[in-house]
Amino acid sequence: MKITYYCDNCSSYINTARVEGLSLAELGLDALTEKKWLDIIKYTDEDGIILSSLCDSCAEKLGTL
Ligand SMILES: [Zn+2]
Repeated sequence: MKITYYCDNCSSYINTARVEGLSLAELGLDALTEKKWLDIIKYTDEDGIILSSLCDSCAEKLGTL
């Protein structure tokens, strides 16, 4: 399974993680209803699961580091 991170603030690409054999349950996503899940997490065949995060420069700017 592929997980692609994009910056929530500037939408720049951050990182792609490739996890083998990781289930949605292990990601803690199974507790969400499918509808809720789709509201939070995007999925495309190309990028796999798309998660929002913060890139280094935005994290620095926003003072979250
Ligand atoms: Zn950013």
